[in-house]
Amino acid sequence: MKVGVLSLQGTFIEHVNAIRKLGVDALEVRKPENLHGISGVIIPGGESTVITRLMHYYRLVEPLKRLAENSVPFLGTCAGMICLSKDVGSPVELETLELLDIRVNRNAFGRQVASFETELNIPVLGEKPFPGLFIRGPVVEHTGDGVEVIARIDDGRIVAVQQGNILATAFHPELMEDLRLHQYFLQLVLKTVPEARLL
Ligand code: GLN
Repeated sequence: MKVGVLSLQGTFIEHVNAIRKLGVDALEVRKPENLHGISGVIIPGGESTVITRLMHYYRLVEPLKRLAENSVPFLGTCAGMICLSKDVGSPVELETLELLDIRVNRNAFGRQVASFETELNIPVLGEKPFPGLFIRGPVVEHTGDGVEVIARIDDGRIVAVQQGNILATAFHPELMEDLRLHQYFLQLVLKTVPEARLL
């Protein structure tokens, strides 16, 4: 079983390391060929304007969409969440993958200096709070049918969602020691690729 991490810009190394720590193969994806045999896809944090432009430049958009149509699980963190969203509601034109039926407000928390860490209650990860690190992260302003809210910050704003096999967080689990979010994602991957259990 192999998880592909979109490695055009941003925190891809950190995601690769998290997946490898959990004993699963992770592959850096830069070209469509890299997607062969991939059972899950991660889109990292970084800068969504850059990542979306490079995704188009390297002709990764269609192959990624096809994987999602075939139920291959996706995880997007921060900029990755924006890249997956149907609606980015910002004046900057972003051609996203439009796989996740949410509207995000980019940079909802302000500038880099307004970065913060907070404990999040994420029931699907168990009782222990999850350390949420927000670095110019988005907030989910609207969720469509079939989108489940899996985490909110204290003031009620939505910061993590799941729509079937697509998981997205406004924070950066890849920058923390806690691997439960990646573990949860790998469970989705295992469910989708049952034969992978035998490997
Ligand atoms: N603000 C960035 C964007 O709009 C996301 C920041 C991040 O991924 N840490 O893409």
